[in-house]
Amino acid sequence: MTNMMRMKSALIAILAGLMLAPVAARAHGGEHEKSEAEEAEAKKHTGAPSSFDKQPAIGTWATCAVSGEVFQVDDETDFHVHEGRTYAFCCGGCRKKFKKNPAKYAPATPAKSTATP
Ligand SMILES: [Zn+2]
Repeated sequence: MTNMMRMKSALIAILAGLMLAPVAARAHGGEHEKSEAEEAEAKKHTGAPSSFDKQPAIGTWATCAVSGEVFQVDDETDFHVHEGRTYAFCCGGCRKKFKKNPAKYAPATPAKSTATP
């Protein structure tokens, strides 16, 4: 009786393991994960600007001021205007970080003569 039950639960454990295996393999991809083709394309645009005079058009290549990731602006891109410059971010999380501490991520603007420390 007890032996039968032990065998049954072992079988269930094996079946459950088989069913979970593909899910575990898929769980490796993170939010910032890119395909190889996308990665190669982004490399071509290394040095893309992180800020713009105005909101860049969809398809413009940009560098995330926070993560440094090179990406293409699309209709879901997050923007933030700081000192007259529009910054593009690879994700909402990076935008949040920038808003918290823009001085850390925004390149120093040499234009201001009054901003002497
Ligand atoms: Zn990001």
